[in-house]
Amino acid sequence: SGKLEGKVALVTAAAQGIGRAIAESAAAEGAIVWATDVNAEKLKELDGTPGITTRILNVLKGADVDALVAEIGTVDVLFNCAGIVHAGTIEQASEADLDFAYDLNVKSMWRTIKATLPGMLAKGDGSIVNICSVAGSIKGVPNRFAYGITKAATVGLTKSVAADFVTKGIRCNGICPGTVESPSLQERLKAQGDYEAARAAFIARQPIGRIGTPQEIADLALYLATATYTTGQMHIIDGGWVN
Ligand code: NAD
Repeated sequence: SGKLEGKVALVTAAAQGIGRAIAESAAAEGAIVWATDVNAEKLKELDGTPGITTRILNVLKGADVDALVAEIGTVDVLFNCAGIVHAGTIEQASEADLDFAYDLNVKSMWRTIKATLPGMLAKGDGSIVNICSVAGSIKGVPNRFAYGITKAATVGLTKSVAADFVTKGIRCNGICPGTVESPSLQERLKAQGDYEAARAAFIARQPIGRIGTPQEIADLALYLATATYTTGQMHIIDGGWVN
């Protein structure tokens, strides 16, 4: 039987990239997966996958998060994958950009954790896996001002939740990817103008010599979903970038 047999998993931003790989891997390992995203079209591609139920969910909307969790019931594993990259330095980041990045990258996690925690506490068991980033508190990355601030905040959020509920059966860990292949990465590369040069520069950041795959991140996420002796930690997976 699978590593997550019978476990109820909620995944945000599951339509593509890391979230999608996590949703598919968790289902393949026997989890009852609720795959959610704001992109209804993309999310549809998961319809019919055994073990996966899809629901449109905008993580900016607390009432919608609460309603979905009420429908699901107790969540055993929460995978917080929603996040957006704001490209630019402090010079390009407006207050609205900062507020939006905070809302989507940080407060989304606050909303889903607040909604799922009561069920986890009642059960005395639960695992929360937050997709953070090496950009932010672990490494200063050029042109990632709003992104770095907000991803650093997810580290504080992860550690705070871990510290408060460590004796109650709840684990809360962060994953800090380097550069990972995803539709939004493709958009960022194209936005640079010279796609090949931009791709080469992104590859060069990882001493391992390539960009990571969503599956590699999903493998770590599944490990953390079942891990019983780690909490409050940032798990770096970045092809040797910050070594
Ligand atoms: P992606 O950026 O290609 O896709 C993001 C998904 O989030 C999309 O399906 C989109 O519809 C969804 N989304 C956007 N706004 C939403 C909202 N309000 N509610 C619900 N869903 C919403 O995927 P990715 O690059 O794998 O990124 C996933 C996570 O991984 C993000 O938190 C990102 O910051 C983090 N991350 C990515 C990389 C990378 O190089 N790709 C590196 C480090 C961290």
